[in-house]
Amino acid sequence: MTAGLTVAVASGKGGTGKTTVSANLACVAAEAGKKVCYVDCDVEEPNGHLFLKPGLERRRKVYVPVPSVDVEKCTACGACRDICQYSAIAAIGSEVITFEKMCHGCGGCRLVCPSGAITERGREVGAVEEGRAGRVAFVQGRLNVGEAMSPPLIKAVRSSVPENSLAVVDAPPGTSCPVITAVRGADFVILVTEPTPFGINDLGLAIDMVKELGIPHAVVVNRSVPGNSLAEDFCGQRGVRILAEIPDDRRVAEAYSRGELAYSAVPAFREYFEDLLTSVEKEARR
Ligand code: SF4
Ligand code: SF4
Repeated sequence: MTAGLTVAVASGKGGTGKTTVSANLACVAAEAGKKVCYVDCDVEEPNGHLFLKPGLERRRKVYVPVPSVDVEKCTACGACRDICQYSAIAAIGSEVITFEKMCHGCGGCRLVCPSGAITERGREVGAVEEGRAGRVAFVQGRLNVGEAMSPPLIKAVRSSVPENSLAVVDAPPGTSCPVITAVRGADFVILVTEPTPFGINDLGLAIDMVKELGIPHAVVVNRSVPGNSLAEDFCGQRGVRILAEIPDDRRVAEAYSRGELAYSAVPAFREYFEDLLTSVEKEARR
């Protein structure tokens, strides 16, 4: 059994095969007898469920605390406006206006308010859903439509992982706040890329991000093509290891469109993910 290891799977851009790697990795780990949890932090567009087909057993709403101002107590001093780093509260003349969708729920305005005029109330941003897909524990976040405040939901998803699990975190794409929230605190990050100029450019940004966060990391090249050494050359220059190269295979693309795991459709692919699991565990526990 693998105890308490968090492996995040990220990529600098969408569509590189991040979910394919996460879902297949989680399933081969479970089949190897490990206690594993698939953690879908791509809360704007969670799609791991399409491949794992979990039965969802629990759902809980997630709220961000936003300020509520008592006009009777407010002296219009402006301290709340001055402390807010997100321009989510404004003092205009004798009136205080809040912009709830911009509020990060830091509580700063309530703390600095000298007259106790600010209390907090919860604003719903989404939900955490939990269940099982066979031997794989499953947790995902679902951000409400039109909602931009995903980090609090991603934190709630990350904190829902059962103890002593190998957590495979499917991070949102990109290198901004949501992905940083999803990978922060992970033991290891797999950066998935495809060997194209766009893919390599975004891989460079993702490498910068995980280096800044100080998290051990390595690369998986998806849809690898013989004779294309773009990813090898780039990773060699950046001093980042490539743990696996998953070949481009039309059968896998077709399986993806049907919502099937790559190695269920093409059994030879099982070995890629088994080897990747072994490499990741070794690297993460160094
Ligand atoms: S809770 Fe924080 S982010 Fe929200 S309005 Fe107050 S100071 Fe701004
Ligand atoms: S800090 Fe409190 S008293 Fe001052 S403007 Fe804001 S709500 Fe009003």
